[in-house]
This record gives sequence, C-alpha cells and structure tokens, in this order.
Amino acid sequence: MQQFSNIDETRHWCLQQRRQNRTIGLVPTMGALHEGHLALMRRAKRECDLCIATIFVNPTQFAAGEDLTRYPRPLQRDLELLERENVDAVFLPDESMMYPSGFGTYVSPPPVALPLEGESRPEHFRGVTTVVMKLFQIAQADRAFFGQKDFQQLRVIEDMTRDLNVPIEIIRCDIVRESDGLAMSSRNRYLNDEQRQRALSLSRALTAAKNLNQSGERDIATIEAVMKAELAVCDHVDYAVVVNRTTLLPPTDSITRPNESIALVAARIGNTRLIDNELL
Ligand code: AMP
Repeated sequence: MQQFSNIDETRHWCLQQRRQNRTIGLVPTMGALHEGHLALMRRAKRECDLCIATIFVNPTQFAAGEDLTRYPRPLQRDLELLERENVDAVFLPDESMMYPSGFGTYVSPPPVALPLEGESRPEHFRGVTTVVMKLFQIAQADRAFFGQKDFQQLRVIEDMTRDLNVPIEIIRCDIVRESDGLAMSSRNRYLNDEQRQRALSLSRALTAAKNLNQSGERDIATIEAVMKAELAVCDHVDYAVVVNRTTLLPPTDSITRPNESIALVAARIGNTRLIDNELL
C-alpha cells in the first residue's frame, strides 16, 4: 500500500493512475477504523480499479469543547486494517499540510446543512465541506464513498458536489451495525458497559419508528413521541425526528410517505454524542 503524507505526491499518483485508464474510489475517514469504514473500502475496491483512503481528523469540523483532542488515533492498527483490505493507497496529511499558515478559504455549505446537526453544531458542516472539497482536489477520484450513518453529511456533500460541478460521483453506502443494532462509530469506544447498553436506545428508537411506519402509522408526531420515549435513558436528546429524506425538513402535511421519509436521532450518553438514522 502506498502511503502519502504529501499533497503533491498524492495528486501525482492519482493522475498517473487515471492516465492509465484506472478508475479510483476515494474513501475519506478520520481513522479509528471499524467495519463500517472497511465496508466502504470493500465497495470502492469492487466498483473501482483502485481504492485510496484518507485518514485526517479534521480540526475545522470540531467546535471548541468537542472531542478533537481526545479523538482516537490508532494509526498503526488503521494501517494494518487497510493493508488487509488491499487498499491501494492512503493519504495521511498532518494539520499543517491541510491548513498551512495563511489558509483562509472555506466552502459555504448548502441549505440542507442548516437543520438538525446544523442547529446542534453550527460550524460543523462548513468544516466538512471545506475538507471534503480539498480531498476531492487532492485525490482526484472517479467516485467517493460515504456512509449513510452520517446521512445529513452525505446529503450536504451530494448538494455541494452538484452545486459546484465537482467531477466525482458520490456513492451512498449502507450503515454497518453491531449484532445488537448499535451503529458502528469510532466514538463508541468512549462508552463504558453501562453507557453502551443505553446507547442501544438509538437503534431501538429507529426500529420502533420503522415498525410503526410499516404497520401503517403516518402521523409524524406519534412516531416521534415513540422515538423520544425510547431515548429517555439518554442524558440528552438533541433531536428525534421524521423528515423528508431529500430536504431534511418536516413535510408540510406532517405525514410520512414511503420512500420519502427518514427518521434521525442524535443523543448524548455521558459525554459521548451519538447519531443514527433509518430510512422509512
Ligand atoms: P468518520 O471516520 O466517522 O468521519 O467516517 C468516515 C466515513 O465512514 C463516513 O462516510 C461515514 O459515514 C462512514 N461511516 C462511519 N460509520 C459507519 C457505519 N457504521 N456504517 C457505514 N458507514 C460508516
């Protein structure tokens, strides 16, 4: 596996591969890799000739007081996992490579960034759009693979890519869960046993929403009340909503429609903030 920490080397490798008519799949991550990340790499390998992963804990998407400094960085293990998946190259920039002194241009996120995470973490998506746009310019890939675990992030990146005519195809990948339903996340390792039990309330709330919807319940307030009841064991609930899956806004008539709605939750357990979602 090629390892790059330098922007020019990474860009050069990608351009050389594409000149030889090889397609490249890009998988951006913040490391602390788990099966959810590896599923993206496997799909990229299946659907492209080559896969390039990136590992960068992006400071501009963390607000002051969030977990930037304690975010897990098990680099050696991450590299072993990437090797095992036959990932072809990894880009591991440091902060000064991505944000050298004098850096000052940001990508203003599209409207779909405003609700939900946008309300709880107002600067977050500006950091995400900026770093993802930089990664798209550095590792010039044919396709980029993102998990639906971060559904709003995916929608933000889809709209940014469309609005700014970025020549890359965004591929949506399914959420990978533990056998008990907990959505895999690098942040799950912050949870102790008791907290991990309570964290199951997120996937339970979403399963309850899906079951209600499948049994014919269409009233959003009713579904949201059931989700909130499941999440009562959390220390704080940021949101538990059913919204339109394109705009992420509530539908005007307060009714869920098949293949148009999504349930999303964000809650804190101890100091750990978790998110999850389920298409309805
Ligand atoms: P992160 O390292 O948390 O920034 O995530 C990097 C990529 O992996 C993003 O596209 C995430 O949506 C995706 N991802 C994280 N967790 C999961 C999961 N449990 N299932 C599928 N994709 C995931």
